[in-house]
Amino acid sequence: MAATADKLQEQEPKKAYNQDEDIECVLWTAADIEKRVAELGAEISRDYSGIPIVLIGVATGAVMFLADLMRKLSIPVLVDFVRVQSYGNQTQSSGVATISTDVKISIKDKHVLVVEDIIDTGITLSKLVKHLATKEPASVSVCALLDKISRRVIPLQLSEGSRFYRGFECSDNFVVGYGMDFAELYRNLAYIGVLKPDIYS
Ligand code: 5GP
Repeated sequence: MAATADKLQEQEPKKAYNQDEDIECVLWTAADIEKRVAELGAEISRDYSGIPIVLIGVATGAVMFLADLMRKLSIPVLVDFVRVQSYGNQTQSSGVATISTDVKISIKDKHVLVVEDIIDTGITLSKLVKHLATKEPASVSVCALLDKISRRVIPLQLSEGSRFYRGFECSDNFVVGYGMDFAELYRNLAYIGVLKPDIYS
């Protein structure tokens, strides 16, 4: 343990990552998020009353949202994760996405709810929804905590009877916290904030 800490201290950090100090402004506090997640949970529980659903979290960004949302659901749930690799630099999508880790449980004839942290261009989600549809689920719905509506390149196309749940509309800023990262950091912030541009430029 001590050896690891010593080793870390030896390394010269490229930039100092100071968590709260690196945030330009807070967009949603922990309390704002908690309130909205409870509302979404109630809405989803009402819509699927008595019907089991498979929650599919998009790792790693959706981990906190999924953990909080599932505790607000009063319906039976199964949980799985996928990973979608999007290429590009750390704050901009290149327009190409591939499923790097697939679902492990069978979703055939089941109702699926994809749980996503943030939709930006829509490329990731569009790829994922099409991919899941090939597994013949009963339906594929989506619940995204944040939606950068103005940035959409590919519209979200869900089949009839599927639902779309949105937590908050997000402005065109690079945000971190509540599971969302920059260079794998800041995920543990309990709030969502805009990262100071000098951190990533
Ligand atoms: P899309 O394919 O819709 O352009 O991008 C979706 C993915 O890009 C999200 O799952 C997320 O990983 C990442 N992303 C988009 N905007 C942001 C942002 O503002 N902050 C963070 N941390 N990730 C983002």
